[in-house]
Amino acid sequence: MLGTMCASFRNGLFSPGCPACGEPCNEEQLCRACRSSFASPSTEGSVPLGIRETHVLWAYSGTPRRLIVQAKEEPRSPCAPYLAQALFKEIQTMGFEPGPVFAPPASWRRTWKGWHLAEHLAESMRRRLGWSRGGMRLRRLGFSKPQVTRTGQERRQALQGRFRVRKGKKSIPARVWLLDDVLTTGATLSECARAFHSIGVDRVGAWILCRSERFRKPLDGYTKHP
Ligand SMILES: [Zn+2]
Repeated sequence: MLGTMCASFRNGLFSPGCPACGEPCNEEQLCRACRSSFASPSTEGSVPLGIRETHVLWAYSGTPRRLIVQAKEEPRSPCAPYLAQALFKEIQTMGFEPGPVFAPPASWRRTWKGWHLAEHLAESMRRRLGWSRGGMRLRRLGFSKPQVTRTGQERRQALQGRFRVRKGKKSIPARVWLLDDVLTTGATLSECARAFHSIGVDRVGAWILCRSERFRKPLDGYTKHP
């Protein structure tokens, strides 16, 4: 703790340091220790139903987890820009089909905080890629209790029908991308996909920074929409 504080102090004076741990290093690169702490996501976890392609960058552990936790808590930390840059590079490398990019609308707790990492990343990708929202808005109707304490089925039930897409004046695109930081059950993304399918979007894909290993079992009781 003290070491981190000292490092932050030094970095505040001399250089930005490693975005994940604050230790001195070159420019905005991760230090060697943090670079070595990235794991690939498990291929066994649940896939959000109704979503055609789910692209996950890392497992939710080590450095990615630290970057996400810090980025959610502290908007001005160097973690959010680092994550945005990593995601952008990945999207460019993979060469995905263009389409509007949306983050699931924030829960009441995040709205209250006034800082929503996923929306920040979505806005950053829209700007960098030039893929606009096409005049559409993804909205959350009302607010539910925190998700963390619920099981997968409870999450799904609580979220059913909670999301709506407001159409713009432009025509409905065939492809839409959803963007989130951590994938657990996929219930939120699934319900967002349902909202897009219901207005006539054909292909909904998802970009996710990390897959959490907490929920491995695929969810049932849900069929492909519309
Ligand atoms: Zn580091």
